[in-house]
Amino acid sequence: MQRKILIRYSEIALKGKNRHFFEQALSRNLKQAVKNTGTQIVRLHGRFLAVAPEGKTAAVMEKLQKVFGAVSLSEVFPASRDMAGIKETAAAVVASLPRNLNTFKVETKRADKSFPLTSPEVNNAIGAFLLGQFPHLKVDVHQPLFTLFIEIGPEEILLYHDSIAGPGGLPVGASGKGLLLLSGGIDSPVAGWLAMKRGLSIEALHFHSFPFTSLRSREKAADLCRMLARYGHAVPFNLLSLTEVQKEIRARCPEELAIILLRRMMMRAAEALSRKRGLQALITGESLGQVASQTLESLNVISAATRMLILRPLIGMDKVEIVNRARAIDTYEISIRPYEDCCTLFVPRHPATRPTLERVEKAEEALEIERLLENILDTLETEIITS
Ligand code: ATP
Ligand code: MG
Repeated sequence: MQRKILIRYSEIALKGKNRHFFEQALSRNLKQAVKNTGTQIVRLHGRFLAVAPEGKTAAVMEKLQKVFGAVSLSEVFPASRDMAGIKETAAAVVASLPRNLNTFKVETKRADKSFPLTSPEVNNAIGAFLLGQFPHLKVDVHQPLFTLFIEIGPEEILLYHDSIAGPGGLPVGASGKGLLLLSGGIDSPVAGWLAMKRGLSIEALHFHSFPFTSLRSREKAADLCRMLARYGHAVPFNLLSLTEVQKEIRARCPEELAIILLRRMMMRAAEALSRKRGLQALITGESLGQVASQTLESLNVISAATRMLILRPLIGMDKVEIVNRARAIDTYEISIRPYEDCCTLFVPRHPATRPTLERVEKAEEALEIERLLENILDTLETEIITS
């Protein structure tokens, strides 16, 4: 029996031009997700159909399940355009199900009104046919163990019995481009995933303090990037060194402001890189109140270092929710590898929780900000990471 994959997207909020743009982006991303698998992506009315080579449907389904914009997916079985064809496919579908699924109903949607039978007529005819063919079956219209769905469209008649959830959201690339500040921690990969979910395509930026941080921590960030690449596209992975800045901050500034000062340098460097690459927003894994550098006062002072929009997708999430999401997208196991982060290196014993901008700017007078910034940008390395 031939199998295909039906991909549904939500049409709510898709109006006028938006809709065409959304569909094009989704089509492009679906094709990208299955490239090199020999799969074809076909556009139907208001949905997509993937045709995978024999035996590859499950593997392709797994890839398509990661494409943002897809709301749900079903393995579907095409039938020829008459009742005999629908019966034949319906029997094959039921025969493939475990026998303990012994109560059912049929639900037909007839988008193609030229089909000679109405939806209730098809339900009745196919229901009766299956009862005749499979003595173990009974009809239960209220709580059936499976439902046989029959979609009669203008192009195809498709049967299926199951749907799985897609990730929803908007197709990556449909909302513009952002720069993800990617540490090796649990939070920032989740923030990147959520930004991609809202249609941003991303570049990643990781700050290291080699040789104080090891090559392993850099590999960890690259591995996290690879996980994110599965949800959209190859991700440019940018590396910048903070070693010099950290030394300067340590030598010249009050210890309790060290993290805030470092974060402000990160923002300046991230802004400079974004301008160069045409990226429109910074994305961080900050969440309100998690640590000293994430109080409202601290976030304000950090934000003041850049004029760029900073997106903080985790702001409303609890740690447990973030961890659950990290597990679901397979970044958690990488994030908990024990390598050092540049910020954990020079952690002050008593970080300021309520820094004022005035005080921080005063402390920065001891630093040659412009020179340090150039120094950071001179260390740029970029690697394109694919899934
Ligand atoms: P994470 O789990 O993402 O590291 P966190 O809760 O540990 O977050 P912080 O260490 O305070 O929080 O970092 C806050 C945010 O700053 C991170 O989510 C990330 O976006 C950015 N950041 C921190 N360290 C780095 C780094 N070495 N390179 C790039 N971005 C960083
Ligand atoms: Mg961290």
